[in-house]
Amino acid sequence: MIKEFNSLRVAPSIAFQPEKLRQTIAREAGVKPAKITDLVITRRSIDARQRNVMVNLAVRAYINEKAPEQPLGMKIDYPFVNDARQVIVVGAGPAGLFAALRLIELGLRPVVVERGKNVSDRRKDMARIARENVVDPDSNYCFGEGGAGAFSDGKLYTRSKKRGSVEKILSVFHNHGASSDILVDAHPHIGTDRLPEVIRAMRETIIAHGGEVRFSTRMESLIINDGCVTGITVAGGGELHGPVILATGHSARDVYRMLHRSGVRLEPKGIAVGVRLEHPQKLIDCIQYHSPEGRGKWLPAAEYSMLTRIDGRAVYSFCMCPGGFVIPAASEPGQLVVNGMSPSNRGTRWSNSGMVVEILPEDVKELPDGSPLKMMEFQEEIERRFFADSGDDSYSAPAQRMEDFTKGKLSTSLPPTSYAPGIHPSRIDKLLPPEVASRLQKGFMEFGRKSRGFLTNDAILLGAETRTSSPVRIPRDNVTLCHIEIPGLFPTGEGAGYAGGIVSAAMDGERAADAVKAYLDNA
Ligand SMILES: Cc1cc2nc3c(=O)[nH]c(=O)nc-3n(C[C@H](O)[C@H](O)[C@H](O)COP(=O)(O)OP(=O)(O)OC[C@H]3O[C@@H](n4cnc5c(N)ncnc54)[C@H](O)[C@@H]3O)c2cc1C
Repeated sequence: MIKEFNSLRVAPSIAFQPEKLRQTIAREAGVKPAKITDLVITRRSIDARQRNVMVNLAVRAYINEKAPEQPLGMKIDYPFVNDARQVIVVGAGPAGLFAALRLIELGLRPVVVERGKNVSDRRKDMARIARENVVDPDSNYCFGEGGAGAFSDGKLYTRSKKRGSVEKILSVFHNHGASSDILVDAHPHIGTDRLPEVIRAMRETIIAHGGEVRFSTRMESLIINDGCVTGITVAGGGELHGPVILATGHSARDVYRMLHRSGVRLEPKGIAVGVRLEHPQKLIDCIQYHSPEGRGKWLPAAEYSMLTRIDGRAVYSFCMCPGGFVIPAASEPGQLVVNGMSPSNRGTRWSNSGMVVEILPEDVKELPDGSPLKMMEFQEEIERRFFADSGDDSYSAPAQRMEDFTKGKLSTSLPPTSYAPGIHPSRIDKLLPPEVASRLQKGFMEFGRKSRGFLTNDAILLGAETRTSSPVRIPRDNVTLCHIEIPGLFPTGEGAGYAGGIVSAAMDGERAADAVKAYLDNA
């Protein structure tokens, strides 16, 4: 017999101890604990609104019968596509990888070209940034197998309401080795220590079913015949033919420049820029869980989410990484960009989050209107300014204590940080564009009023956080998903300006594959 308990509310010490949970469920079900053969949690969220933090659970109890082998998620069958029609997928980030897997499901053969290295070899290049102050423009925190999401927190939370599609994406991650917790948790995440294995397994599925993945292969240009994209050329020589799914992410500025030079229509897009804010995790735990003891034995590292509007623009926290690290995420030399990642246990003593201000093309007065690359140039300028601040060509990040920032004061000392290349005291309030700095200052004061203890000199700001979303949109037809003027080109994922985050980029990649199938069927 199966019994569903859809609205259990229990203490963390019960939710996270299987034996205690079994006893609780047995009581609810009116059976002896030994009669419960299997317990499957199907939903889990933490409710920290009240002083007593509780866990909301949905649980399926199998009484005197075994749970199926895969009780959660979807199983997906991949046919062999060795002799099928070829589709070029440029970029092996979430959008590209999920496009490739979906193409296989649809009986098409993906050829994935990726400028960076495979997910293991990438690590060495990332380590060189902190150790040797060298950024490889083809292999870094943004470029390489797995894309920008490979070395991240692996947060899989999305605001998308397309439940079926979200479940499919989470199932693909789970089927490739991610914990079943991601199918259950309200805010699922994989962790930077687990993501590479999952990504490697996805690549193996693509190859095992007849697709191809070529690393260190950079698309140089599009092949356009009679106004229609029919393939790409790659750096070092060579052409690949087929419809093109362009999934190059929002950091591939050379791709936007190439498209602009080739006459492909692009549009500037609003972005958000600011800083990465790093607190001691214990402090965030104390605030969020309303306890001087912090999170105690059972609760996970606490998260927060902040949002306000200051002077007509949104000011908000972005990509929060509890128990994580701040990392150097530039994709070219001479730029300073920070971001965050966390291991699966979110176990470091720091919490970090982007704190950013919305900025629209019309807000940027210092650059002329008219260029679709205006917001990208605005981003680049900030990144160069932050890089130049150290004065020694290193990736040391300008840093300022949080209250000092709100008071426009240089910090005379800085606390320890998780950011490996190091930090130096600087006036971030002066390095940021004034309209960003003043809104952030006001935003921090408001967040400090709402959440006591949040605005503190125990926290530091590191800058600059600029790669929050794409500064360019590659406009596409709503139905065919082809570029609005050029058939055969399917811009997808974050770089196209239609997604933000791992899950939404992955869903968009799947949609691009469906669109290519329809395009070929109608040809
Ligand atoms: C440090 C960090 C942490 C993040 N954490 C999270 C998180 O926890 N949760 C979340 O949802 N999102 C997170 N994000 C954002 C998320 O990673 C992106 O939204 C997502 O990766 C976008 O997917 P994409 O496939 O569209 O593009 P990308 O992931 O950017 O992938 C694009 C790929 O294209 C390749 N490429 C570029 N140009 C070329 C070319 N000319 N030829 C061949 N290949 C090319 C790149 O090398 C790259 O691999 C994080 C981002 C960063 C940088």
